[in-house]
Amino acid sequence: MLDYQAKKDLLQRKIILVTGAGDGIGRTAATTFAAYGATVILLGRTQHKLELVYDDIMAQGSPEPVIMPLDLATATPDDYQHLADLIAVQFGQLDGLLHNASLLGTLTPLEQLPITTLEQLLKVNVMAQLALTQPLLPLLRRAPAASILFTSSSVGRKGRAYWGAYAISKFATEGMMQVLADECDGSTVRSNSINPGATRTAMRASAYPAEDPLTLRTAEQLMPLYLYLMGDDSRHENGQQFSAQPKP
Ligand code: NDP
Repeated sequence: MLDYQAKKDLLQRKIILVTGAGDGIGRTAATTFAAYGATVILLGRTQHKLELVYDDIMAQGSPEPVIMPLDLATATPDDYQHLADLIAVQFGQLDGLLHNASLLGTLTPLEQLPITTLEQLLKVNVMAQLALTQPLLPLLRRAPAASILFTSSSVGRKGRAYWGAYAISKFATEGMMQVLADECDGSTVRSNSINPGATRTAMRASAYPAEDPLTLRTAEQLMPLYLYLMGDDSRHENGQQFSAQPKP
């Protein structure tokens, strides 16, 4: 599916929420989904970045997006319920949910990993995903076919030294995806995970500061798989782990 060619109207009339939509892969996914017809809900913690994405989407002539500023590190269950209520009033359903926002943290041996650091990472990378998914599930069930896409990593599929809290959080993400997929099996809601692979973003640069970013794929190059998994051509996929780049 890495060379999937989406029809221009693939996501027409779909409502898709993207977390971490202000930067990196989330930003590109949001503008791409909009370009294929979706009304995108832009969730992120930095309002001015979301406004820039809003401007890009309007400039490309796509459906008007919605900006939802929310910091996943501090959001409460009430905040998530409020968000779901707003979506219910404005749209009545949700067709897609891309869990994309994540923190990297610092790379360190597990022996020295402060437990507070692990807690902070799990809050954003894992607990926020569940807390957001819970009140959105009734809205996802109202869509004819809904896709929940979790963002994993190579270190969420095979542990690697020093990737500590981030790797633990990505394994938890894979586990959550599989449990949810099994619970929703046979329904109209599907869950899958995607490993973007090394991609030219701020997160990658902070993990590999000496690397030449020009050697990496851009977020745009990953989009065929993101489109496949958000569109109806992937209706039959549930509980699967995908990789957005060919194995090196
Ligand atoms: P970036 O750091 O470039 O972007 C992450 C986005 O998430 C930013 O917009 C950021 O907001 C947002 N975000 C972070 N914390 C919060 C929070 N507490 N509340 C709301 N939003 C938040 O990351 P990438 O685009 O590189 O990564 C996207 C996903 O892909 C992540 O899940 C990452 O783990 C995964 N991934 C990336 C790889 C890569 O090589 N880039 C490889 C493998 C996996 P703000 O802009 O305000 O900081």
